[in-house]
Amino acid sequence: MSIKTLPPEIANQIAAGEVVERPASVVKECVENAIDAGATLIEIHIENGGKKCIKIIDNGIGMSPTDLELSIQRHATSKIQNIEDLFSIQSFGFRGEALAAISAVSDFEIVSKTSEQEFGSKVELKSGKNKKISTVAANNGTQILIKDLFVSTPARKQYLKTDETEYREIVKEIKAFSLAHYQIGFRLFKNGKNVLDYSATSNVKQRIIQIFKRNSDQMIPINFEPINNGLSSETLKTQQLATNTTLTISGFISRPEACVANRNQQYLFVNGRKINDYKLAYAVREAYNRSCGIEKHLHPQFVIFIEIDPILVDVNVHPRKLEVKFSEPREVFSTLSRVIGSALLKASQNPDKTISNERVLNKTPQSFKKLSRESFSSIPRPQFNIPRNKVLTGNLFNQNILEKANTNAPSSTFNTQHSKIEKKTITADNTLGNLILIGQIARKYIIAEGETGMFIFDQHALHERQRFEHFWKKIHGQKIRTQKLLINQDINLSEEEVSILHENKNILQDMGFSFTFSHDDTISINEIPNFLESENLEQYFRNFVEYFEHEQIGEHSVDRFLRRIIEYKACRGAVMFGDRLETEEMQKILDDLKDTQFKWLCAHGRPNYWFVPFDELDRKFHR
Ligand code: ADP
Ligand code: MG
Repeated sequence: MSIKTLPPEIANQIAAGEVVERPASVVKECVENAIDAGATLIEIHIENGGKKCIKIIDNGIGMSPTDLELSIQRHATSKIQNIEDLFSIQSFGFRGEALAAISAVSDFEIVSKTSEQEFGSKVELKSGKNKKISTVAANNGTQILIKDLFVSTPARKQYLKTDETEYREIVKEIKAFSLAHYQIGFRLFKNGKNVLDYSATSNVKQRIIQIFKRNSDQMIPINFEPINNGLSSETLKTQQLATNTTLTISGFISRPEACVANRNQQYLFVNGRKINDYKLAYAVREAYNRSCGIEKHLHPQFVIFIEIDPILVDVNVHPRKLEVKFSEPREVFSTLSRVIGSALLKASQNPDKTISNERVLNKTPQSFKKLSRESFSSIPRPQFNIPRNKVLTGNLFNQNILEKANTNAPSSTFNTQHSKIEKKTITADNTLGNLILIGQIARKYIIAEGETGMFIFDQHALHERQRFEHFWKKIHGQKIRTQKLLINQDINLSEEEVSILHENKNILQDMGFSFTFSHDDTISINEIPNFLESENLEQYFRNFVEYFEHEQIGEHSVDRFLRRIIEYKACRGAVMFGDRLETEEMQKILDDLKDTQFKWLCAHGRPNYWFVPFDELDRKFHR
C-alpha cells in the first residue's frame, strides 16, 4: 500500500479517541472552555446519558465569527502560544484539540456571540464535514449542541455504557467543576428535567452543602499556608517540610464517623484541576488511619484543593489531564497527610455534633469482623470476675426488663424496634457531660442518660478505644525498650507463616523482637518489646502473620505495625461483647470518657455509641 496523508476529518477522528472517550468527557471539555471564557452561569442539557444529545450554554465572552471558525480546527487555541506557556498554564485548555475532536465524531453545532457583535454566528458540521456557516440571533456567550456522539465511529460507540451510567459520569464531572468554581452557577437538565441547580455561592463550604447535603455542614476545615500568618506551631512544623515550595492546601474533610462505604465523595484538585491520584487519596486515608482509625470498608469524604507553583507540577502527562506529576511528590504527600492528621486531632477536641443513624447501622463486612472482634472474643478476659446472676443497676428499667436482659436474648425488644428507625441524621448535643449510668443490656451495651438524650455505648468498642489510647500515648514515639527472655520461646507455625515472618523480619526487629528460624515451621523468640511482657506471644505472632499477609506494608510500616500491636493489646484486655458488667466497671468506662480523645469511634474506626435524643423518643410515642 502506498503512503497517503490522511484527510483532516479522519485524522481528527483518530485523535478524538484520546480526548473524547464518552459523553462525560465532552461535557468536561466544554465546561472547561466555558470557565476559561469567564462564564458565570453554565447550563448543561443531556438526553439519553448524552449519547443522543448534549447541549452546553454559557454566558462567557463568546467568539467572533473568525475565531469561531478557527476554534474547531485542530491545534487551534487562544490559550498558549509557545511551549514555555505550558509551564505557567492557568487556563484549563491548552491543547486546542477538544472542539476539533468533538466535532469530528458527532453532529455538531456551535453558536457564539461577543458583546461587541450584534448577531451571533453559527458553524455546523456533520462528522467533521459539510461545514455550514450562518449568522443567527444569539445571546452573548456560546452554545454548543452535540448530537449523536460517535455516529461516525461505531466501534467507539459500542463501548459506551448504559444511559444511566453515562449520566452518572456527567454528574460526577459537573459536581467536581462546581466544587472548584463555587462562584459559577451550574445547572444540569436530564431529558428535560432540571436535576442539579447550584446557584453561585460566595464560598466553597456553601457549595459543599449544596452538593453533599447530608452531614456536610459538619465537615472539618483544613488549611495550610506556607507563610507564617499566626499559625499554630504544629502547622508551622508541618510547613518546614514545604519550605522550598509554595504549597497551599485547603478544603474540607469528613468527620471520622461520617466516613462512607464508597469513594464517590472524594475530590482532589491541583491548581483547580480535578485529578484522580490514588496516591494522594491514600495519603488522606492514611491520615485517618493513623489518627482515629478507619474501618477497612469505609472511606473519608473530602474536597481538597492543592495549590502549587505551576513550575513544580506537570499537568501534561495525561491526555485527559486526570493525573499530574509533582517534582517533589513526597513533600506533597507527607504535608497533605500531616495537615489532615492535625485537623482530625483538633476536631476530636471538639467532638461530634451529628450522628447519622444510617452510618451507625452500617453493617460491618464479615472479612473485617474476622480480623477483629470475633477472632479475639474467644480469648478469656483477664481482669474482671463477674458473678453470672447479678442483677443490673439502673433506674429506668424495671425488674422484668432486667431479667430479660440477663437471659441470652441477643437484643431487647427496644433494640429491634430501633433498628427500623428512619434513616436520617440526628443532631445531638455533643457535650457528653453529665452522663447517668442506667445499666447494661444484652450484655453488650451500656445505657446512659445524657442531658438531651440517651446514649447506647458498645461496651467492647468503647473500652477498647480507651485502652488503645492509653497504651498508644505510653508507647508511641518512645524508644522501644526490650527484654530478653529467660528461656527462648519456640512457636510452631506453618511453612507459609514462617516465610511471611522471614519476609517481614526487619519490621519485627525494629519493633524490638529478636528471633531465629529454628526449622522451616518453627521460630525461636529470645527478645521482646517490654510492653508485651506476660502476653501470650504465640497469639501475637499468629496475629502478625495475619497482618503481614493481608495488609500492604509500605510507608510508615513500623508505625502502622506498632499501631496494630497496640490495637491487639487494647482489644485483648478490653471487656468483651457478651460480658456482664459490674456497675463499677461501667461507671469507670463512662468516667474515662472525659479523657478519651476519639470517643466516638473504636480503634478500628467503628462507631462506639448511638445517641437517641429525647425528642426523637417523644416523637416515636406521638408525644
Ligand atoms: P483549548 O481549550 O485547548 O484551547 P478547544 O478546542 O477546547 O481548545 O477550544 C479552542 C478554542 O476555542 C479555545 O482556545 C477558545 O479560544 C475557543 N473556545 C472554545 N469554547 C469556547 C467558549 N465556550 N467560549 C469562548 N471561547 C471558546
Ligand atoms: Mg478546551
